[in-house]
Amino acid sequence: MSAVLDSLVETPVTALKNVGPAMAEKLAKLGIHNVQDLAFHLPLRYQDRTRITPIGGLRANLDVVVEGDIKAADVVFGKRRSLVVRIQDGTGTLTLRFFHFSAAQKNKLKKGERIRCFGEARPGKSGLELYHPEYQFMDELNDTPTEQTLTPIYPSTEGLAQIRWRQLMSQVVALIKQGVGVEDLLPAELLTSKNMPSLAQALLYLHQPPVGSDLDQMELYAHPAQHRLIIEELLAHNLSMQKMREEMQRHAAPAIPASQDYLAKLLKQLPFTPTNAQQRVNQEIVADFAKGFPMLRLVQGDVGSGKTLVAAMAALHVLEQGYQVAIMAPTEILAEQHLKNFQGWMEPLGISMAWLAGKVKGKAREATLNAIKQGDAQLIVGTHALFQNDVEFKNLCLAIIDEQHRFGVHQRLALREKGKSINPHQLIMTATPIPRTLAMSAYADLDTSIIDELPPGRSPVNTVVIDQDRRDQIVERIRAACIEGRQAYWVCTLIEESEEMEAQAAEVTAQSLQDALPELKIGMVHGRLKAQEKADIMAAFKAGDLHLLVATTVIEVGVDVPNASLMVIENPERLGLAQLHQLRGRVGRGTAQSHCVLLYQTPLSQQGKQRLHAMRDTSDGFKIAEIDLQIRGPGEVLGTRQTGLMQMRIADLQRDGYLLDDIQQLSQQLMQQHPHWVDALIQRWLGENVRYGQV
Ligand code: ADP
Ligand code: MG
Repeated sequence: MSAVLDSLVETPVTALKNVGPAMAEKLAKLGIHNVQDLAFHLPLRYQDRTRITPIGGLRANLDVVVEGDIKAADVVFGKRRSLVVRIQDGTGTLTLRFFHFSAAQKNKLKKGERIRCFGEARPGKSGLELYHPEYQFMDELNDTPTEQTLTPIYPSTEGLAQIRWRQLMSQVVALIKQGVGVEDLLPAELLTSKNMPSLAQALLYLHQPPVGSDLDQMELYAHPAQHRLIIEELLAHNLSMQKMREEMQRHAAPAIPASQDYLAKLLKQLPFTPTNAQQRVNQEIVADFAKGFPMLRLVQGDVGSGKTLVAAMAALHVLEQGYQVAIMAPTEILAEQHLKNFQGWMEPLGISMAWLAGKVKGKAREATLNAIKQGDAQLIVGTHALFQNDVEFKNLCLAIIDEQHRFGVHQRLALREKGKSINPHQLIMTATPIPRTLAMSAYADLDTSIIDELPPGRSPVNTVVIDQDRRDQIVERIRAACIEGRQAYWVCTLIEESEEMEAQAAEVTAQSLQDALPELKIGMVHGRLKAQEKADIMAAFKAGDLHLLVATTVIEVGVDVPNASLMVIENPERLGLAQLHQLRGRVGRGTAQSHCVLLYQTPLSQQGKQRLHAMRDTSDGFKIAEIDLQIRGPGEVLGTRQTGLMQMRIADLQRDGYLLDDIQQLSQQLMQQHPHWVDALIQRWLGENVRYGQV
């Protein structure tokens, strides 16, 4: 080794033995540049190769090391040609089976040789067998003892074998043992009070757990060394969010007083009064506006809780001061629906509006862009087309983002840039209730409001779980409901992410339903239709001109047709619970009792059944989100890529979520008492992935 400096972070990986430019490049692709990065590349799991298990004492499905004498080695021609080697150690006989083997390999594995093998014992033809074990010949081992530590298995990439990782890590371990610095960035009081190991101790332990380590405890991530690093990682993530928030709020934003005029006028024309929850959230927003720095607020409200009105109220405060407001929705259908709602509410107040989506092109687009730039358009509704470079606002002061989980953090930030000299306030609305643990980590940079009350007069949707075999009955039910003047949705789901296949499935379904129900007017929407076609069909359905709407999951978000009171979801087992909850939220918006039929395909797994029953048994979006989180994990629930919620190295939000309250406090403490540690911690754990870093 050369050029080892006195800290790991200052030592480049090329200072290690056997790390040339090619290897350094491979590591760099994994974000590993210096030896500290390497030290924080933590094992995924461990194997116990420290003990030799007697063949007579093997148990199924465990990784084991065995030693024995080869008694026979034969090529067997069964269904597949295989090399079968029998070994004995005095306590029993064991079969090793190789489906791929070379002639040289076969010749070497001959009777009389003694070998040490490592593999997983699995039930096979002749009792327990090892398939493709790793093996070494005893005479080549020269009495090398078994491993002295548990064997770590590292997350890797193509062309980087585990053995290479182990070689690298043994050098890292040696450096740490020599005392090359790896700075402890947790307060000493905390380490003592919680009896946590130092960082160096924890890293040494995790890279080379000594013989006798409790593998079960390690698998539960309950070892103090793991605990210490979990805390550090959660802390680093939290700090990066807090920094982002500080960054945003360091800039001034116009203080906006509460509306004196517009709001009263809007409320007067509404056929209903805002719920207490809507009023409370409005007050929270008003309080933010008064502060003089950018609001960053996430409003969570279950489907149908009336988030649109809350958004409108927020917009009015800002519009009244002469600033522009932008509202973005993730789909065109939803954006158009907002446009209609807002037109109904805002135009009577004399507020001028504009509409911008990808489909707006040519002259129309130019005119719209000009209106936005000149300030002739005060309230702008659209899709992510609003993010595009050529969209210039005159004085954007509030950005409202509906259904946040579909937008990336980066898009949200791009919008901020649109404010140019002004830092716009941001209001983010999500109908997918976010389990608290997730909200605390993925949205730690946002203040949260919850609309925890539905408008009066709603009765929960009655949900039933029914087997596809009874499809005909369901079709009859639709006929009966539609003849009575109600409307229904039929939702097709597909596993493939292809819009085209989804569209085809919807077409086939629509046709077969039309054949079965000739007296009904049936419409269809899917992602492949032109925006105008979609809008026309939605409008026809809303106007009651269609009885039944066959749709793909494009109708998931926000579509509001109160007269629709029956929904059939085909193959609901393919969707996440949160998505099902969203879909189901399309019914139950009017006064009639609504029904949702989950028409599943048999056979359904036990877990699948559990999930659908959970849907049947609760209509509380937060509960559903918790269940979804337990079953599918945070990445799936939030959409990892979209939210910027990163894969963590050792922490797991589900398992470790209970720590987040403490982490929040620790994070505050650190920023006050050890501000110089903050960047180092973030760098250490998030590295070049520092969230928001590249925006
Ligand atoms: P979501 O929170 O799912 O976006 P919406 O804003 O679309 O919900 O509102 C759902 C329906 O409830 C709409 O038809 C809306 O007009 C209506 N609504 C909203 N607030 C109230 C209220 N306070 N009282 C009665 N109806 C309301
Ligand atoms: Mg909505």
